[in-house]
Amino acid sequence: MLAAPFLIEGHEITISASIGISIFPDNGTDTTELLQQADSAMYAAKRNGKNRVMYFTPELGSSVRERLNLENQLRGALLRREIEVYYQPEFDVSTRRLVRFEALARWQHPTLGSVPPNKFIPIAEECGLIVPLGAFILERACQEAVTWQSISGYPIQVAVNVSTIQFRRESFVEEVEQALRHTGLDPKLLQIELTESVMLDGMERASNTMKRLRAMGISIAVDDFGTGYSCFSYLPRLPFNVLKIDRSFVRELGKRSEMKAMIQALVSLAHDLNMQVVVEGIETSQQLEMVETLGGNQVQGFLLGRPTPNPKSLLASASTMIPPTDDHSVLVPLNKTNS
Ligand code: C2E
Ligand code: MG
Ligand code: MG
Repeated sequence: MLAAPFLIEGHEITISASIGISIFPDNGTDTTELLQQADSAMYAAKRNGKNRVMYFTPELGSSVRERLNLENQLRGALLRREIEVYYQPEFDVSTRRLVRFEALARWQHPTLGSVPPNKFIPIAEECGLIVPLGAFILERACQEAVTWQSISGYPIQVAVNVSTIQFRRESFVEEVEQALRHTGLDPKLLQIELTESVMLDGMERASNTMKRLRAMGISIAVDDFGTGYSCFSYLPRLPFNVLKIDRSFVRELGKRSEMKAMIQALVSLAHDLNMQVVVEGIETSQQLEMVETLGGNQVQGFLLGRPTPNPKSLLASASTMIPPTDDHSVLVPLNKTNS
């Protein structure tokens, strides 16, 4: 019944339900405990792709405890300055220049060590911490980017990943304006990376927010394109100007011949829609060469540079705007110019 779409003011709305079940007395003997376990099962159902029913299990209990523990620690992490921002370079294929750094969050936990963003960002999203966390990363990244321009002598953008939860807030555009105002970063030097889930709130709403950002001069990229349930029809309807092809395509590039055709098709689609293409996850010179022939505009990957807490060292060491090369023979040295 729930799966059937509702028609509200001319819009077709589809909803799904994630259900968690706990059973008396196996999973608990009072209502508080039973509700907690059912809640854990419900969150597990969401994490496993939503729209499903899951029963509580003891294993779920321990993973929930671990998650709760991380959540509690994450609450203090910002205050304790355990969240850091690393920066990974991206290069233009035709000019061979460094064009931007992507800001990537890192959590240096005093005992757990480095907690990867794939682990703590989803927790921050679930408990709402993504809002202060995202605002901190945005401001920090803009602050850092301001300092690059004078070192490099030409404009270098910073790309900041923004969670859909942050993006859908009424005040999001004002928060971006505020970060730019505080730091003095030129809006043209900011790229915001969104994922395809932004359209789940409705195309019109996402499009309006994006238009306001674009009007300020900010670039907007659709990140990890090709993962999940990519729906091509929304692309022309949302004002993205950059498409980032997910690294899963590149990983398979040498192994599955159809991947070449897929990347080529995505590049051609993006170019027809006036979007630039960034290809993620370049790890070998062969992959780089193939992406060049397939027409990708910009590249990012471990071959070209890993995320670093100190991007200035890359800029300072460069009269050539490429990473320390040696084994990256495909990239030729560049001269720094101001064009
Ligand atoms: P993303 O935005 O797609 O970022 C690229 C990820 O790919 C980064 O992982 C980067 O280290 C990794 N990567 C880059 N080149 C290569 C390569 O050649 N090979 C391999 N195997 N990996 C490569 P990271 O830093 O672990 O971030 C993972 C994801 O976490 C990001 O994916 C992004 O979705 C999310 N994330 C990171 N920082 C933030 C943040 O500040 N805010 C939000 N909302 N999400 C973030
Ligand atoms: Mg990204
Ligand atoms: Mg990505």
